[in-house]
Amino acid sequence: SINLRKPFVAGNWKMNGNLALVAEFNQKLANVKADSEIVICAPSLLLHAFETHSFAIGAQNVSHLNNGAHTGELSVEMLKEAGCGYAIVGHSERREDQGESSELVALKAKQCVSSGVVPIICVGEPLEVREAGDVESFVGEQLDALVSAMSVDELSKTVIAYEPIWAIGTGKTASPEQAQEVHEFIRGYFNKVDAQLAQGLRILYGGSVKPDNAETLFAQKDVDGGLIGGASLKAEDFISICQAA
Ligand code: PGA
Repeated sequence: SINLRKPFVAGNWKMNGNLALVAEFNQKLANVKADSEIVICAPSLLLHAFETHSFAIGAQNVSHLNNGAHTGELSVEMLKEAGCGYAIVGHSERREDQGESSELVALKAKQCVSSGVVPIICVGEPLEVREAGDVESFVGEQLDALVSAMSVDELSKTVIAYEPIWAIGTGKTASPEQAQEVHEFIRGYFNKVDAQLAQGLRILYGGSVKPDNAETLFAQKDVDGGLIGGASLKAEDFISICQAA
């Protein structure tokens, strides 16, 4: 069957960047031509400064709760008002640093969908799990939590990012074969939930994607684009990755 999924590239600035970098991106990305959907997930305090024409903006986290007495949190309603169409949820750095469970990540994703914000839901295994040959059961459990909390219709309004933890920020990219293998597993997992859902679902690869490896990764059958950390902080690199998708 023909792949009708629109390629998708999201930058994850993490806790980096400033107004000067936003200004540079506004200028350099203004006339970018790419066939992919492009999103920059920047620190929330910088979002107001983006001039979004050729790309959209996203947050890197969101509360699973509605507005109320939750000190230090940002609601999906606030993100939406700030112009966010997307929010990363369940990044491995938050699963680790903030102890976010798969159940909490699923609630955050559901909360996004309820307000029309597209969650970019991160899954992926640490090195020990890969070395033990348990990638599918580990990632499968992360996906179980999503399927328990969300309907097929809700799931169809999400994007999944497979990010093997050992490849994040390490310069050790998964090989195209390793990426494809897990992407195929993820799509197969959703295929058992609903065939149409699986066919339409964008599954991004993340972990040391750079201009020189993006094209072969994105050429894999079940890789629909990427979630880019380090290389998303350099406008030229990010643009060339967007154009590889
Ligand atoms: P990296 O980060 O591209 O710097 O490896 C990817 C991510 O954490 O989303």
